[in-house]
Amino acid sequence: MLEQNEFMNLSKMNFDISEEQAMVLEQVDRACREFRPIEDKCYLEHRINDQVRPFFAKAHLLGLPTSRKYGDGQGADMMTYALAVERIGREGTGVRTFFSVHMALGQMTIQHWGTEEQKAKYLPPATRGDAVLAFGLTEPNAGSDPASLTTYFEEKGGKYYLTGQKMWISLGSTAKYILVFAYPKGKREGMCGFIMDTSTPGYKAEIIPHKLGLPTADTSTVYLDKAEVAKEDMLGPPGKGMSVALSGLMNGRLSVAAGCVGVIQDCLDEAVRYAGVRFQHGKLIGKHQLVQRHIGLMSMNLDAAKLLLLKAAFIKQKYEEDPKNRALMEATDLACTKAKYFAANASFDAANRAVQVFGANGYSLENRPARHLADSRVTMIYEGANEILEQKMALGSLGKSFEAYS
Ligand SMILES: Cc1cc2nc3c(=O)[nH]c(=O)nc-3n(C[C@H](O)[C@H](O)[C@H](O)COP(=O)(O)OP(=O)(O)OC[C@H]3O[C@@H](n4cnc5c(N)ncnc54)[C@H](O)[C@@H]3O)c2cc1C
Repeated sequence: MLEQNEFMNLSKMNFDISEEQAMVLEQVDRACREFRPIEDKCYLEHRINDQVRPFFAKAHLLGLPTSRKYGDGQGADMMTYALAVERIGREGTGVRTFFSVHMALGQMTIQHWGTEEQKAKYLPPATRGDAVLAFGLTEPNAGSDPASLTTYFEEKGGKYYLTGQKMWISLGSTAKYILVFAYPKGKREGMCGFIMDTSTPGYKAEIIPHKLGLPTADTSTVYLDKAEVAKEDMLGPPGKGMSVALSGLMNGRLSVAAGCVGVIQDCLDEAVRYAGVRFQHGKLIGKHQLVQRHIGLMSMNLDAAKLLLLKAAFIKQKYEEDPKNRALMEATDLACTKAKYFAANASFDAANRAVQVFGANGYSLENRPARHLADSRVTMIYEGANEILEQKMALGSLGKSFEAYS
């Protein structure tokens, strides 16, 4: 059973931070502090923040998990990477989503599945921030069940042409390249992954308006009308598109978990600060025991979410070092799923509690808790909705023979 797997043994895990790791995290912290007013302004103006790419490219933070062999890749281990994304998550789920998609779903997936030529072509501009990456799996009628997607490709004259529609694609209007998934025309099996240049004729993206949260993030509908992909830009072996997509989602879940831990931290910090300055009934609200309850529970959830995150990062690091080890891959998948599920739910809960501590001031988007409440809700939906992850976690204990669907 996976639960008893040696990779899950907590006593073997070491969460110490080296001086080198601490330096990276200081660099991330500095950049985030400088970036905050830019995001604040965009948020209140309800406008997509187009400064994430140039700002963090200048700070050399857009290639954190990617090998130093490629452009501005920083070669960070998974622990450093997770702690960096946690710090970015404090700035808001919109900003953090950029990193999750561009680095985790994009770069890490290319690094794992790409040919040497693909890595040499796509990773340097991505790590330098010259080319943003997106990930197009979801369709109007294929979300939790990506196997039911209907986008198809045809092969003609040594090229692939893709037709279909992708929905809810983060960075779909911003990206230079998108990882996209399709079946061979007329077939319902043999899904393939591709790297597509979004400037190709036949690629069109439209921003999705009126979202509940993430006003500063580009979320788009993508239309593919015989959109071209070069023969050498199939990602992963033919027919292995689903495995490529699922491994991308595993990377994404670690990143979402990290970002959500950052959200909990920010909500706790804000609630503690406010509880220490606001007076009602003749005393600081932080002295009222029911307000303390909110803070105590946020603090407990922060610890639990962070430990699950560190455990997932630790196991993921082992997997990075031994990528052909299937047992390790499954242990990583389970650990990332648990970390993401717990942190997503705890971040929404923390945002809700922080809003409550702020009272009416918590209802204003001028204050951070309200933004976290609106923005963190998506983390229970994307990269595996809660219900899907609950089933995945159960199978970790029950075993695959209990799978409800395949
Ligand atoms: C802001 C945002 C950004 C996104 N970015 C991306 C992106 O960059 N790339 C991308 O490809 N996708 C992206 N998505 C899409 C996201 O991954 C999907 O929304 C998600 O997979 C869920 O699919 P769905 O919305 O179609 O819901 P559905 O699959 O229709 O599910 C609806 C409900 O039914 C439940 N459900 C479905 N099947 C089962 C089952 N078997 N058992 C129990 N319950 C079930 C779900 O859990 C959910 O509660 C994004 C979504 C949002 C909102």
